[in-house]
Amino acid sequence: MKFNTKTIHGGQKHDPAYGAVMPPIYQTSTYAQTTPGGHKGFEYSRTHNPTRNALENSFASIENGKYGLAFGSGLAAIDAVLKLLKPGDEVISTNDLYGGTYRLFTKIYENFGIKFHFVGMENTSNIESFVNKNTKLLWAETPTNPMLNIVDIDALSKIAKDNNILFAVDNTFATPYIQAPLDFGADIVMHSATKYLGGHSDVIMGALVVNEKDLADKLYFIQNASGAIPGPQDSFLVLRGIKTLHIRMQRHCENAKMIAEFLNDHPKVEKVFWPGLTSHKNHNIAKAQMNDYGGMISFTTKGNDYNKTINILEKLKIFTLAESLGGVESLSGHPASMTHASIPKEEREKSGVVDSLIRLSVGIEDIDDLIADLKQAIG
Ligand SMILES: *Cc1c(COP(=O)(O)O)cnc(C)c1O
Repeated sequence: MKFNTKTIHGGQKHDPAYGAVMPPIYQTSTYAQTTPGGHKGFEYSRTHNPTRNALENSFASIENGKYGLAFGSGLAAIDAVLKLLKPGDEVISTNDLYGGTYRLFTKIYENFGIKFHFVGMENTSNIESFVNKNTKLLWAETPTNPMLNIVDIDALSKIAKDNNILFAVDNTFATPYIQAPLDFGADIVMHSATKYLGGHSDVIMGALVVNEKDLADKLYFIQNASGAIPGPQDSFLVLRGIKTLHIRMQRHCENAKMIAEFLNDHPKVEKVFWPGLTSHKNHNIAKAQMNDYGGMISFTTKGNDYNKTINILEKLKIFTLAESLGGVESLSGHPASMTHASIPKEEREKSGVVDSLIRLSVGIEDIDDLIADLKQAIG
C-alpha cells in the first residue's frame, strides 16, 4: 500500500459491530466479561480501547512500522521512552531541541540520575566522543526547531547500531509524508501528533512507532503502567486528521516553497531557513532523506532589530501569532521571546535564535493571501 492510501486505510478495519466505516468513539472505561477473563480482548481502557487501537494501527502503518502507541501528549510519548532507562544511563541528544523536551530531560530525568549530552549533530563525528558504555539512547530531531537544521538519520543509525544504542527520532516537523526514520534504521519514531498528524490545532496527542517486538512490549508495558494515554474522543480526532495528512502536507510544502522564495528575494530579509532552498547549509542531506521540505520556515530581517520584528508580527493578519505549528491555519512565532525566552540571550544567539528571528508555520490557505500578508507586514 502506498503512503497516500495508508493515511486513509492503513491498519483499519470496518467496525465489527455494525460495519461503521469510521471507528466509533468507544467512550467506555470498562468491558463486560461473561466469566472472569471471558472478554473480547478489552478489559479496561487504560490498557486497550478500540478507538485508540484503530489510531495506533494507523500510526504504525503511516510510519512503516509494526507497532504504534498513542499517548496523551508528545511529551508523554517522550517520557515513556525515557522510562526505558535507569539511573547511570546516558543520553546523547541534538542540541537544537524542542524546549519541552529539553525541560523534561534536564528538569525531570536528570534528577533520576540520567545524564544528557546536547550535541550539534549536523556533523555526526561530534557524537562519537560522547559515546561510552553507559550510553543507552540517541535522541534526534530533524528538521530542528526553530533553526530547521537537518541531521543525517542514516549516519546516526550506523553510530547507534555499532555501539548498541537505542536510536529515537522526533519526526514531528517532517511527518511520515516527508521522511520515514524507521526505513533509515531508527528504532523509535516519536510524534507530537498535536501538530501535523492531528492537523487542525484542536487536540494534544503523542505517538511512538517501533518495529521490534521486545521494544514494543516494553513500551506497551510503560504505557499501561504509567497511564499517560489519550481518550477515545481525541483518538478519533487524530485518526480523522491523518486521513488528509498527505493532501495537507502537499499544500503545506507548496506554500512554504513559494514563501521561502519570496522571503529569499525580499530586500529587508537577511536570511531564510528552509531545507528546500539550495542555499540551506544541510540541503544535500535534506534532499537525500526527505521527499519534500515541510511547512516550517524561519527567517531573520536586516538590522536584527527587536522592535521592528515585534512590529512585523503585530501587523500580520492571516498568520496568527501563537505557539504550536502544523495546523491548517498559518501561524507566526517569535522564538526569542516565546519558546526560547527562558534561555539566556547569549546562549540562544549561539544557536541562531536572534531577536529578529521569526518562525512561520505555513498553513494551507491561498498562497496569494499569505504572500500579500507578509508583504504588508514586512513593508
Ligand atoms: C510540540 C512538540 C513536542 C511536544 O509535544 P506536545 O504534544 O506539545 O506534548 C515535541 N517535539 C516537537 C518537535 C514539538 O513540536
